[in-house]
Amino acid sequence: MSEILAAVLEGASGEVLADIPMPTTTRAVFVRRDEQNMFEGMASKDKDPRRSLHVDEVPLPEIAPDEVYLAVMASSINFNTVWTSIFEPVSTFGFLDRLGKESYWGRRHALDYHVVGSDAAGVVLRTGSAVRKWKVGDEVTVHCNFVDDQDPSGHDDSMLSSNQRIWGFETNFGGLADIAIVKANQLMPKPAHLTWEESAVNALCNSTSYRMLVSRNGAPVTQGDKVLIWGASGGIGSFAVQHVLNSGATPIGVVSSEAKAATLRELGCEYVINRGEKNYQFWKDPHTQDESEWRRLGKDIRELVGDDPDIVFEHPGRSTMGASVFVAKRGGTIITCAATSGYMIEYDNRHLWMKLKTIKGSHFSNYREAWSANQTIVDGKVVPPLSAVFTLEDVGEAAYEVHHNRHEGKIGVLCVAPREGLGVSDPVLRARVGEDRLSIFRRHDKEM
Ligand code: NAP
Repeated sequence: MSEILAAVLEGASGEVLADIPMPTTTRAVFVRRDEQNMFEGMASKDKDPRRSLHVDEVPLPEIAPDEVYLAVMASSINFNTVWTSIFEPVSTFGFLDRLGKESYWGRRHALDYHVVGSDAAGVVLRTGSAVRKWKVGDEVTVHCNFVDDQDPSGHDDSMLSSNQRIWGFETNFGGLADIAIVKANQLMPKPAHLTWEESAVNALCNSTSYRMLVSRNGAPVTQGDKVLIWGASGGIGSFAVQHVLNSGATPIGVVSSEAKAATLRELGCEYVINRGEKNYQFWKDPHTQDESEWRRLGKDIRELVGDDPDIVFEHPGRSTMGASVFVAKRGGTIITCAATSGYMIEYDNRHLWMKLKTIKGSHFSNYREAWSANQTIVDGKVVPPLSAVFTLEDVGEAAYEVHHNRHEGKIGVLCVAPREGLGVSDPVLRARVGEDRLSIFRRHDKEM
């Protein structure tokens, strides 16, 4: 690996990289099948990713014709790595076993360890025989939509593919490793003005928010809309805020502290609700919701922006869905991609049908949407919400931070990259976007 690293850092050509022998193993972050019941009977909050995420050498399997080996310069922590590490809502070994039954190449994934990670930025080291558009030496980022292009069900929108999967969550050989295995149709150009760690934190969350709010497959925002965004300084929320602003609409960001509110304001989100300070109690007890608290939120939104939200960007799930359905404008849309606080949802259906509202599900994005979302980063129109950087060895600690909501934006992870700050090849665009804007989340994180 050291030879590959030296060559990448020297900017070696593809020919030089192709001549360096591929290692037969890689350092990687994984959970173990024989530990999948280790947290049985414990409350979610007590399940500790630092105990279940291991860092060690694992064998590198052969790549399929449509895949590449990628030297992962940096990766990121996503909430799905938290889910895998606490084995909730299910152990991810079931996903690997199902993929293992699908094909000759799928069989490689059904192992007793699961290498996790659904984001990466790095350098292509080898290409399979069927790869046409990418070559050794290309600097890329990776989106996590893993699809079988021989499946007809995916040819309108690949997210509708019957066997669509999330790479590094429902597949093995993910991005939290020195070398990852990636399908060629997951690759996108690395933003030239960003460092490796800034480049690595965007694809999963940015593409998800892009589909939810910009793509016609979501609840596309139009100029003048008001959009309520839960967790607005978190992973998907911080991209949602930027897409809403770029669309000429008005975000109303909900966060849980004044420090997070300050981050949002610097990002350009003028209207912020601090739910910590407001102390909304949408649930009176675990079985009963309090409509008067939904009304209090609705009133707070009207006082801020003079109207009800056209769109609610929903993902906390059980704790907020009742309120989200209530506060959405007549004819408005609640677009949801998750249920962090619980997936058995309850809302008052009268508020949905009588006011002609729509609840719409969304999940990651197809390649075209991910590519467009990446373009917003490449063009400097959306900035990476990188708030902290950890080493691969400390990934358990990084996942622990996300599990306990002690972070803002995104946490980056250095894999092959030996230090922060490397990888910028367009300093002119970087200067135009501005160090101040690129460092909003890092500066605020230090103040938290
Ligand atoms: P994140 O960085 O942890 O941000 C989530 C934010 O939601 C938190 O910072 C928190 O903000 C807010 N939040 C958490 N619990 C809440 C509650 N009970 N009530 C109100 N707000 C709450 O996570 P993320 O990366 O944005 O992901 C959010 C969820 O989306 C996760 O469940 C993740 O698995 C899912 N996700 C799904 C997809 C998909 O493709 N389907 C893609 C990406 C993420 P405050 O404390 O500041 O309010």
